[in-house]
Amino acid sequence: MQAQRITQLDTRLANQIAAGEVVERPASVVKELLENALDAGATRVEIDIEAGGAKLMRLHDDGHGILPDDLTLSLARHATSKIATQEDLHKIATLGFRGEALASIASISKLKLTSNTTDRTDKGHCVQVSGAGMKPETKPAPHSRGTTVEVRDLFFNTPARRKFLKTERTEFQKIEEVIRKMALSHPSVAFALSHNGKVVKRYHSSPAPDGRVAAVFGAAFADNAVYLEEERSAMRLRGWIGLPTFSRSQADQQYFFVNGRAVRDKVISHAVKLGYADVLFHGRNPVYCLFLDLAPQLVDVNVHPTKHEVRFRESRDVHDFVFRTIQQRLAAVTPEEMATQASPASLPGALPGQGGADPYGNTMAQQGAMRLRGHGGGSDGLPQSDRVRLYSELFQKAPEEGTVADWSPQDQLPPLGLAIAQLHGIYILAENARGLILVDMHAAHERITYEQMKTACDAEGMKSQPLLVPMSLAVSEAEVQLVSELQEALETLGIKIEAASNESIIVRSVPTLLAKSNVERLIRDLLSDFREFGSSERITQHRDEILSTMACHGSVRANRKLSIEEMNALLRDMEETERSGQCNHGRPTWCEMSLAELDGLFLRGQ
Ligand code: ADP
Ligand code: MG
Repeated sequence: MQAQRITQLDTRLANQIAAGEVVERPASVVKELLENALDAGATRVEIDIEAGGAKLMRLHDDGHGILPDDLTLSLARHATSKIATQEDLHKIATLGFRGEALASIASISKLKLTSNTTDRTDKGHCVQVSGAGMKPETKPAPHSRGTTVEVRDLFFNTPARRKFLKTERTEFQKIEEVIRKMALSHPSVAFALSHNGKVVKRYHSSPAPDGRVAAVFGAAFADNAVYLEEERSAMRLRGWIGLPTFSRSQADQQYFFVNGRAVRDKVISHAVKLGYADVLFHGRNPVYCLFLDLAPQLVDVNVHPTKHEVRFRESRDVHDFVFRTIQQRLAAVTPEEMATQASPASLPGALPGQGGADPYGNTMAQQGAMRLRGHGGGSDGLPQSDRVRLYSELFQKAPEEGTVADWSPQDQLPPLGLAIAQLHGIYILAENARGLILVDMHAAHERITYEQMKTACDAEGMKSQPLLVPMSLAVSEAEVQLVSELQEALETLGIKIEAASNESIIVRSVPTLLAKSNVERLIRDLLSDFREFGSSERITQHRDEILSTMACHGSVRANRKLSIEEMNALLRDMEETERSGQCNHGRPTWCEMSLAELDGLFLRGQ
């Protein structure tokens, strides 16, 4: 084959090639134009869309504008006012910096740019290009201070790209999503979005980010998310994370901003996922809106033309910080928070005296400080180890008629209230200040036992208790093998098993916390965990999963009759136990029905 001559591509073609990376669809254009408006310090942006963006996208801002002499240059590739030196590239504080958005968009659409840097409307200028690469002429055009960019007929000269456009509705939804993200990270900027001449969305300027989050996500998120804020070695993470019970089947409500830029990042998603690991129901996705701020030198945004990705200089630190902050915040979610979040009473103005009408105002802001605080009336001041003992005794002694704990009416009722009755051997009914509490007693007790086991295991290794009569179990040969290999690892879990023959084992000790459980069932279930985890190293790695299996066996079963005292003890322990709002598998352990909700059922006061 013969060598072909090399030619320099003309500017237009070069720009179209670049546009392939930057402009995937109308929403990408809106994103780039919005970034420019925000970089120009706009306080309000109006966005007009026609036909899902395919026909027209017009953005009008009140930012600082572009000087008339720079209008043509702004449409050239690699022309930017945002960086000048290589050094600048390593500390980017603006959303744009590549100087290629306008050039790319201009090469595949009919673009008109009008701008004014003064307060005299008659001082505005405009340039117009239509993908053809001809040198545009700058003409006077009236315009207020700020910039308007009009993009018509996107992909008109690249029919192949045009074919990839989805329906008008889909493309418009993508545009809405872009605006939602920008609105979240720029709460003080007002946005107005119109489609085919109709205003479809308005975000008013909101001095605090709280108001904007409420406007974007709506009341349900407000009621089911907790606020967090944490700082560590020049990193700050703040925002809202959904309660585990408010998870979704899709990962579609997850917003993460790094220095105000919405990013998709594997390190971050993994850290968040890990933060939820112990509380989320299998296969569910958490919702969150989080803002990470760190020195611009510590994050490289020059990874991809669309700037959706970043690279952290110290990605381990970032991962650890995000993971731990979320994990701790979730562990510290109190029944009060769940109740005030979950009940309609926390909706603005639903109940007088509910701690501020704005669920994002004081209430949310104070939650950071609320964590790990005791629960007044509920605590009896016992050290944890005594509680554990008292607790296991309570559940292991024969049920007896309980007396209602003597709470005088002037005492504040504890958050999960006082037990009134047990329903069908499954649920505990309790009364608190707001109304009725329903508890799934097995699920709740399972979480409490699990958390106790983790604490015990961390502190001094699992306490073990010899069985009065060692138990012999017939098992498979493979299981005998497994037991001999894992003997040491099992002992750290408080379990002593030996091989007795080729096909039987002897159980000598089990964890004290589980001494009263069905030992045979417990061991058989554990054996199946061990088969899955294999080596003793993996057993350590999966310790929490094994403890979770064990906790299930140590928990009250359905149909076990509980005395009122026992039920109250369980409620008090739930108030004190981390993550007690979800069982080990992420299902909720309790719910609340306020008097208002009950009244609603009976159409009272309507
Ligand atoms: P970048 O944003 O990466 O600098 P763009 O191609 O998006 O590159 O824009 C080129 C330049 O045009 C910007 O650096 C900025 O100076 C100017 N510009 C674009 N849009 C606006 C706007 N809405 N307001 C003020 N200046 C703008
Ligand atoms: Mg830009």
